[in-house]
Amino acid sequence: MASGADLAFVNGRVITVNPRNEVVQAVSIQRNRIVAVGSNHHVRKTIGPETEVIDLAGKTLVPGFIDPHIHLAHYGRQRQWLDVTHGAVRSIRDIAELVARRVAEIPRGEWVLGRGFNPSRLAERRVPTHVDLDPVSPDHPVGLQHASGMSWTFNGEGLRRLGVRADTPDPPGGHIDRDEHGVPLGPLWDNCRTFIIEPKLPKPTEDDLYEGARWTCSELNRFGITSAHEADLKFAIQLRAWQRLREAGELRLRVNFLLYTVRANFWESDTAGGRLFEAGIRTGFGDEWLRLGPICIGVDGSGLGQTAALFEPYANDPRGEYRGSVRMTQEELDAFCLKVHAAGCQIAAVAIGERGIEMAIEAIGKAVSAVPRENHRHRLEHGYLWNAGQIRRAAALGLVHNSGGPPLLQAYGVDSTIGAWGPQRALRGFPFRSLLDAGLIVTGGSDAPVAAPDPMKGIDCLVTRRLDPRPDAPVLNPAERVSVLQAVRMYTYNGAYSSFEEHLKGSLEVGKLADLAVLSEDILRIDPEEVRHLRTIMTVLDGKVVYHE
Ligand SMILES: [Zn+2]
Repeated sequence: MASGADLAFVNGRVITVNPRNEVVQAVSIQRNRIVAVGSNHHVRKTIGPETEVIDLAGKTLVPGFIDPHIHLAHYGRQRQWLDVTHGAVRSIRDIAELVARRVAEIPRGEWVLGRGFNPSRLAERRVPTHVDLDPVSPDHPVGLQHASGMSWTFNGEGLRRLGVRADTPDPPGGHIDRDEHGVPLGPLWDNCRTFIIEPKLPKPTEDDLYEGARWTCSELNRFGITSAHEADLKFAIQLRAWQRLREAGELRLRVNFLLYTVRANFWESDTAGGRLFEAGIRTGFGDEWLRLGPICIGVDGSGLGQTAALFEPYANDPRGEYRGSVRMTQEELDAFCLKVHAAGCQIAAVAIGERGIEMAIEAIGKAVSAVPRENHRHRLEHGYLWNAGQIRRAAALGLVHNSGGPPLLQAYGVDSTIGAWGPQRALRGFPFRSLLDAGLIVTGGSDAPVAAPDPMKGIDCLVTRRLDPRPDAPVLNPAERVSVLQAVRMYTYNGAYSSFEEHLKGSLEVGKLADLAVLSEDILRIDPEEVRHLRTIMTVLDGKVVYHE
């Protein structure tokens, strides 16, 4: 055993997340690796005159948290947007007030952007339209992003800038809300994002992304997060911004990148992901800091926007016929999965509703039988409404359920679960326990900025299944609760597994990277109801303290 550790933690409750799920007292670190884990007595053998010793006094120490589905670039960029999430506003009137204030501050003609409105949490219980926004912003284009991140609403000037008029057709997989004369009202759903919105919104510069990435690292370190998977690598400048941060010695996060090589339903070689793929670069390229992950494809609509693809109609559809939307045909998805799988890459299929999940399992299953390969670890991202047969097939296929993430349970709330699916079908929503019991590797995550990236909020959702942060909130099918220990594993080891890095991190074992977090209390002994109040008080990344309360 090495002597002269640099840093040692003693007298704690060290949740190792090792194969035996051991909880021990102490851990020590030399340079960027763990050199001892076990009893105080055992770890003290590595303590030398130079070792800094921290007395945990009974607090919990865990492996650094891993968020395997987070929109890092958006999260960083949106720090400057208006916050219209349900914590910040209660009504469309509040939103209009915020817009009016921003309009008064910025030059005429500049975009006012906002993030995170959730119609079911607004007093008016509807999506804001140009009718609400034009009076406060006649000359500034306004764009507000739905809490799902997939849909938007705009004022009149915003629609004009996007070129959306009465004669603009709905794009494939997208929908434009219109009045009875066909005039667009403001809300633009799902694939409108790809075809209409993104090409016209102001683009971040490499410097914006750099500053956003630096801010994002410090935010995530505050929550004990040491690794994250960027769910949305679309532009080369994103990669450059992260590389610059590393060169500047300011990279405080290990990042995996999910590559997009498709535009809606067709393969697009002329994207950052497409060019990397065509150049022969495959999943795993990079090192323990910056690394390329799976190739990503979106299968259906969103759960929060209530457009995820279902087999049976939405329970709250007045006509009783709406089954959600898909972004491509089964044949197109099959071709995509075969191409990615046969090339030796990992697939990340974003599928949310039961019908979307069916399409993804089907396509991945066909690819794997056409070109058998062990240990592919293809990922099903999100995936919130399952049936028992699908869980069995996903387990047999060896899929990873990259849930990204449990806090969406509370973002969905009653409206997008019981309301949208009906009480019977909602029992099958977010079936974390069943997925784990079936043998799937299931990860945590946040999908930030859709939900806050704090893993304690996600663990709270996993162990309580509350549909709302209020203590007396309704609970969705308590039979699907998982234990705190299982939840910690989802947020650590399972995240590392999803990127083929469990030999490096995700548990506290000798030889692994020294990434860890100290929590404010003993997470295994407090009432699960209290988990969400826990804080990270120290974060260590690569052997260095990157956050200290
Ligand atoms: Zn996402």
